[in-house]
Amino acid sequence: MLNYQLEEEETVAKIRGLNAKMVGLQFPDGLRVHATRLARKIEKETGATTLISGDACYGACDLSDRSMEGLVDLLIHWGHTPLPLDYRIPVLFVEAYSTVEVFESAKEALKLLDDYQTIGLVTTTQHLYLLDDLANFLEENGKNVQMGPGKGTVHGQVLGCNFSSARGLSVDAFLYIGSGNFHPLGLKLSTHKPVIIADPYMNEAREIDEFADRVLRKRFAKIALCMEAKRFGILVSSKEGQMRLEMAKSLKKLIQDQNREAYLILLDNITPDLLMAFRDLNAFVVTACPRIAIDDDQIYEKPLITPYELEIALGIKDWGDYQIDEIIYE
Ligand code: SF4
Repeated sequence: MLNYQLEEEETVAKIRGLNAKMVGLQFPDGLRVHATRLARKIEKETGATTLISGDACYGACDLSDRSMEGLVDLLIHWGHTPLPLDYRIPVLFVEAYSTVEVFESAKEALKLLDDYQTIGLVTTTQHLYLLDDLANFLEENGKNVQMGPGKGTVHGQVLGCNFSSARGLSVDAFLYIGSGNFHPLGLKLSTHKPVIIADPYMNEAREIDEFADRVLRKRFAKIALCMEAKRFGILVSSKEGQMRLEMAKSLKKLIQDQNREAYLILLDNITPDLLMAFRDLNAFVVTACPRIAIDDDQIYEKPLITPYELEIALGIKDWGDYQIDEIIYE
């Protein structure tokens, strides 16, 4: 099990301070293994009753505030920072810092940053507390470091759908601290700059370019399939932070303007099984989480594309200007 600092004592103290009697607990998938232990601790030390959300959760875009409205006095959400949304009940966000050692992989990353002088530094929520130390480390090694404020994110933070803290920085390359290719791919496609990953979980540093090229080739294949599509489903999320109904309506109009058909489809979780019923549709445009079309497309029978990709398929935008879909809060 990966180790996280879950601010347990502080959380218990806040529940006591707020005198909450019924407390909702929500975790992203990777942290839900701590749910019953934390529920036990909270119930024992505060006297409150807890209600654990057992649903999947991938971000602060997908809080249990609606499903728990009227059921709890307070919702505690671990693992994400708040988005500028109107949550329906009081929510306490607890950031869940990873205790994994990051400096060994950052040292490895320095070798790949040799040709670059000014570095944009970004990471995800679980390593945010180390950003200043990492910036000092890079500067001690002769680099200039920049971090951006972001819209709907905190300084230096990226989400899978929001790279506003990186875009607009005048840097030679980005250093991403964290695991996987999910966020660095988005960073690459959003900024079009070199991206080096310092991955503390694999204890290595690597570039994203080859992976990004492979993904782009697959994206263009999906877009090509949609060029001849006659009937589109436009998927609209019922999750508050992923709901883009106005965008979906304008995409429907773009499609209809070309004498093709488009249907708005509202879903909470998008899964291959649920889409299978729409046999007469040729392709789906995802206005929900932008990563669904990019990261999960291989599990769907029909092409899933982003709103920007639809515009390429319709001949409105050019292939050469490819942009990743983002949800930026102003
Ligand atoms: S919309 Fe997707 S990428 Fe953005 S915060 Fe939610 S789950 Fe993460």
